[in-house]
Amino acid sequence: MLSPLPEFYCPYTSDCYECCLDTEMALAEKDITRIEKLGFEIDDFLKEKEGFMVLENVDGHCFFLDDKLCSIYDNRPQGCRFYPLIFDLEIDSLVIDNLCVHNDDFDPNIYKPLFDPIRTFVYNLISEKEIRVKKMKEEEELELKETLEEQLEEDSKSIEVDIKKLEEIFEETIEEATSEELEKIEGDLEEEMREIEDEISELEKGIEEELREMEDEVEELSEEIRKEFDSIEEVLDEAEEEKEKEKEE
Ligand code: SF4
Ligand code: SF4
Repeated sequence: MLSPLPEFYCPYTSDCYECCLDTEMALAEKDITRIEKLGFEIDDFLKEKEGFMVLENVDGHCFFLDDKLCSIYDNRPQGCRFYPLIFDLEIDSLVIDNLCVHNDDFDPNIYKPLFDPIRTFVYNLISEKEIRVKKMKEEEELELKETLEEQLEEDSKSIEVDIKKLEEIFEETIEEATSEELEKIEGDLEEEMREIEDEISELEKGIEEELREMEDEVEELSEEIRKEFDSIEEVLDEAEEEKEKEKEE
């Protein structure tokens, strides 16, 4: 059964299969479904490349190339049907791929009726790629989250075990300690507490001293400002008095 999909028939396929060597032909989801229905496993004939699903090569040629012929010709991918016509997104135009060995024999202008189908096909490939990339990222994130959660759970368990061991060691130490040793521990702790209290008290004194100094400085400054105001007021009063006198005279 020949495909109802639009296609381009290369007249050189009887003695040329260059485009089936080291191919990187990208497949649309419809291509994948169609080929899968023939009984092929995706992992055998496809690989992911930068988000696109491209044909897998075996010994330097397409997985489907058999004795220089396409073994799935009637169901071959849409990109293979259009090749060597490709779509140049930058100039929004059909071009003949440089890699085709008969590149010079084709005139892209003759194939204008295929402009819309090829353009639509390429944009569809890109949108499918974007959806795929988004899905892959989400899967990666989920995987990473699961790994981190597992790691966190393992770490928490190991910390719990460590704490338990430490508690056991502490309890054993307390149990095994003689009353003299316990008294010594208690004495050391009291000594440490006293030292900490002294340090705190020193710090408080230092802070109080600094606050007092600051208050004194502020007080001195206020006094200076007050004096300054007083002298200004005196000058103003004198000037007022003189004006009054002048008026009277
Ligand atoms: S699917 Fe067929 S036409 Fe396309 S690259 Fe492979 S062998 Fe060639
Ligand atoms: S390389 Fe070009 S000429 Fe050769 S089969 Fe492919 S499209 Fe045809």
